[in-house]
Amino acid sequence: MNAPATKLIKGQTGDWEIVIGMEVHAQVLSKSKLFSGASTEFGAEPNSQVSFIDAGMPGMLPVINEKCVEQAVRTGLGLKAKINLSSIFDRKNYFYPDLPQGYQISQYKNPIVGEGEVTIDLKDGESRLVGIERLHLEQDAGKSLHDQHPDSSYVDLNRSGIALMEIVTKPHMRTSEEASAFLRKLRAIVRYLGTCDGNMDEGSMRADVNVSVCRVGGYEKFRESGDFKHLGTRCEIKNVNSMRFIAQAVEYEARRQIEIIEGGGAIRQETRLYDSRQGETRSMRSKEEAHDYRYFPDPDLLPLELDANWVADIAKSLPELPDEKKSRFMGLGLSAYDASVLVAERELADYYEELAKGVDAKAAANWLNNEILGRLNRDGLSIVQSPVSAAANNAIVAMISDKTISGKIAKDLLDIVWSEGGDPRAIVEARGLRQVTDTGAIDAAIEAVIAANPEKVEEVKAKPKLAAWFVGQVMKQTGGKANPAAVNAALKVRLNLPDEG
Ligand code: ADP
Ligand code: MG
Repeated sequence: MNAPATKLIKGQTGDWEIVIGMEVHAQVLSKSKLFSGASTEFGAEPNSQVSFIDAGMPGMLPVINEKCVEQAVRTGLGLKAKINLSSIFDRKNYFYPDLPQGYQISQYKNPIVGEGEVTIDLKDGESRLVGIERLHLEQDAGKSLHDQHPDSSYVDLNRSGIALMEIVTKPHMRTSEEASAFLRKLRAIVRYLGTCDGNMDEGSMRADVNVSVCRVGGYEKFRESGDFKHLGTRCEIKNVNSMRFIAQAVEYEARRQIEIIEGGGAIRQETRLYDSRQGETRSMRSKEEAHDYRYFPDPDLLPLELDANWVADIAKSLPELPDEKKSRFMGLGLSAYDASVLVAERELADYYEELAKGVDAKAAANWLNNEILGRLNRDGLSIVQSPVSAAANNAIVAMISDKTISGKIAKDLLDIVWSEGGDPRAIVEARGLRQVTDTGAIDAAIEAVIAANPEKVEEVKAKPKLAAWFVGQVMKQTGGKANPAAVNAALKVRLNLPDEG
C-alpha cells in the first residue's frame, strides 16, 4: 500500500524529490464556542456573537465546552489515532488586532489526540498511508476587515473563540496530487463524522502546506531513520483554501526551491502565501519558533481529564467511515476506483445504497456514474439536489435488468422523469415504453423492413455483417422498444444467416 511515489522533478543538476506535510485547521461543528456560550453561526452581523470571554475582557474565566471536546475525540478516533486521556491547554502569546486576549488558548506539548493515520486514494485506484502527528484543540481568532473603509480597518470578533482542531500530518506526502488527495480524504472523514462541515469557501477548513525538496533517496532515508536531517529545509504556505490551489502551490514552491539550491543558494525556513492570481508563492515572514510564543499552561484551566468509558462510548457511536464503506462496496463487485468515487461524499454513498437496493451493484454504480452524475454535472447540481430520487432510479435500473425496458428507453425515461417528475413505472405503462419481446410484434416489424428494402435482403446474404443494419431498422420501427437480442435471433432465422454472422 505504501509504495514510494516515483514522481521526480528534473533540475539542472539532477533529479529532486518533493516532501510535503500539512497542518489543517478544521472548525469544530458545535453550537457554541470552545470556552464561551456565544453562537458559532456563520454569516451573522459583525460582532453580534461575542461574549466577554471572546472579547478578551480582563478577569473573565473560560469554561470548556464538552461538545467541542467530544468532537475532537470523535475526529481522533476517525483518524485511527491515540486519544490522550490527559491533555493540557496552553497560552500561545502573540499580538494581533483581531486577538483581543493577546494570546490564543491552544495545546502544545500535551494535545488531546496523538498519532494516527489517513489512507489517501489516488487517481489510478491506488491508496497510500499518510501518518498523523497530532490533533489539538485551540481557539480561532477574529477577523480583520480591510475593505470596509478607505483608511481604517475593522475587526469582527464573531469568529473569536470558535473551536478549531489543528490536525498535523507527518511529512509523508510526495506529490501535489497526494497533497490534494489528503485534504479531500480528511474533509470526507470529518464530514462523515459530523465534526466539521468542511466548507472551504467559508473558511471552515484551511490548510498550511509545508514543502521541501531533497535529492533522490533522501525521503527513504528519512522514513528508515526518522531523522529529519535527510530532508531539505521546508517553507510553509499559509491558508491555502482549495484542493486545486494546494496542488498549484506545491508545484510552484518545489520548483522555486530547486532553482535557489541549484543556483548555489540555501532555503530559509519561512512562512509564505500563495497568490492564486499570479500562480506563485511570496514570502510573508521568517518562520517563528515555538519559544517565540512563550507557551505556558493556562492558569485558568485545569488539565483536561477524559474518562476512558466516555471515549469508548464515542468510539461505539462512530458511523461507517469512507474506507470501510469502500471495502464493503468493493465486496459487492465494484472496482476500487468506482468505490472511492462513491464514498467520497456521504450523501452520494447513501444515494447509491438506496439506488442499488435489490439490483446488481455494478449496474447501479454504472447508472449513477454515467447517467445521474453526468446530468447533475450538466445542470450544476449536487447529489442532494438531484431532481430524480434514488428510489426512482432504483425502479429504472430494476426495469432494465428484468428487461421491462431497453437500455436506450431507460435513458429517455430518465430524461422524462428528470424534467417532468413522476413515477418511472407509471410512465412506462402510460406511454407504452415496455420493451417488445413479443415475437409476433418483432416479426411484423421485420417483415415491414424487408418489404421496404428488398435490395438489402440480397446484400445481407452476401455480407452477413449487414445484419446490424437490419437490427437498427427494426429497433427504429418499434420505437426503440424491441429487445435487441430477440430481434437478432428472429432476423437470423428469417434471413437464414449463419450463426457467426
Ligand atoms: P511547526 O509547529 O513549527 O509548524 P512542526 O514540526 O509541527 O512545525 O511541523 C509542521 C509541519 O511541517 C508538519 O506537517 C510536518 O509534517 C511538516 N514538515 C516538517 N519537516 C518538513 C520537511 N522537511 N518537509 C516538508 N514538511 C515538513
Ligand atoms: Mg505550524
